[in-house]
Amino acid sequence: MQQITNHLPTAELQALDAAHHMHPFSTQSELAAKGARVITGASGVTLRDSEGVEILDAMAGLWCVNVGYGREELAEAAARQMRELPYYNTFFMTTHVPAIALSARLAELAPGHLNHVFYAGSGSEANDTNLRMVRTYWAEMGKPSKQIVISRWNAYHGSSVGSGSLGGMKGMHAQGGMPIPGIEHIDQPNWWAEGGDMSPEEFGLERARQLEKKIDELGEDNVAAFIAEPVQGAGGVIVAPDTYWPEVMRICRERDILFIADEVICGFGRTGQWFGSQTLDLAPDIMTIAKGLSSGYQPIGGSIVSDKVAEVIGATEFNHGYTYSGHPVACAVALENLRILDEEGIVTRVREDTGPYLKEKFEGLMDHPMVGEAKIVGMMGSIALTPDKAARARFASDAGTVGYMVRERCFANNLIMRHVGDRMIISPPLVISKSEIDTLIERAWQSLDEGMAAVK
Ligand code: PLP
Repeated sequence: MQQITNHLPTAELQALDAAHHMHPFSTQSELAAKGARVITGASGVTLRDSEGVEILDAMAGLWCVNVGYGREELAEAAARQMRELPYYNTFFMTTHVPAIALSARLAELAPGHLNHVFYAGSGSEANDTNLRMVRTYWAEMGKPSKQIVISRWNAYHGSSVGSGSLGGMKGMHAQGGMPIPGIEHIDQPNWWAEGGDMSPEEFGLERARQLEKKIDELGEDNVAAFIAEPVQGAGGVIVAPDTYWPEVMRICRERDILFIADEVICGFGRTGQWFGSQTLDLAPDIMTIAKGLSSGYQPIGGSIVSDKVAEVIGATEFNHGYTYSGHPVACAVALENLRILDEEGIVTRVREDTGPYLKEKFEGLMDHPMVGEAKIVGMMGSIALTPDKAARARFASDAGTVGYMVRERCFANNLIMRHVGDRMIISPPLVISKSEIDTLIERAWQSLDEGMAAVK
């Protein structure tokens, strides 16, 4: 068999990749025509490709490498745990120290009433758990009709059939028979694109009250929960107007439905607190976690569950779980990752130092003629591209063409920024320094200039 290593020429690696590796969220024929960029190494916030080019990763991989690349401590934690106990499950009345220690630590970090962790291998699996858990909760409470979960259009909650149905991505729903029954969607709080003549405050209330209207329409006795990301990530880093969340919290409380905060992106320092729910003053019954939990060094996700829900679920046998629920190596790495985030003061730095610095620089992109809105919370931000700022206008071309072009210019300028339609988004490693932030902004500005020149 051929030895395939970093030493093969890039074109050969690309051809093998396109021939045998099916990529997520990609057009395989485009990969075959253009060749994927082959990433061979990384350190801090910088990726290196097979041509030796260094790229500033303003997306922290997929919003996950919170402590940055190349942390020896995490490699050590994995190796240590693999030698001691590489695998054992947590089914059928067994446990192990890494799962115990991580659960206890997460209970300390999470808001007061969230003290119980159910593990999964990813955010998608964790949201599948949540779907079954909230329905089971109400059945056990003697209200078996409370089964419907309300979510939002343009939300992202994962790619499995359950979590993809909870999400509100129409392109995903168009493939493979989603959404499954029992899931309803309301509109997102994206004022810039959808607010029309309303003020952001009016619009925030209007969108929050869609939840109340939807509950009325479905009947309170049929609704189990509302699920939402504190800040919508993959939908384009949509930050709700200030009036939105207090109203949503009021409605969840008064209507006796559970609230699931999907913290897969917002968790573990991304918004400047341990959890986005703390930054936005939310009161979740369940929080979905993944990504920054291990900084992406190991696949692990989970649900942090409130005392109220855990007590009810714990009184029965919950017939649910994954082979890798509470995987000992993933738990050991996650625990070490939480130690690094804490002891190096990374979350505090995002809140008090580098986060405010990034905000100032990022909002400065508003001076660019093609930028209509710049929104940022902690270290997740987005800009809306527009041909006419004052009118909050969209480009006439197919939505996303200009965004795609700017993303390609970023790539050429050794900056990873993503586009969602004509919104450009960032979510850098939380350890990014001020000088790296300056480089990020310079490259983004240059890419916007080049993109604008191409549009004209
Ligand atoms: N929830 C949110 C908010 C996400 O952003 C993602 C992934 O991007 C998921 C869930 C799904 O997580 P995973 O890709 O680990 O299954």
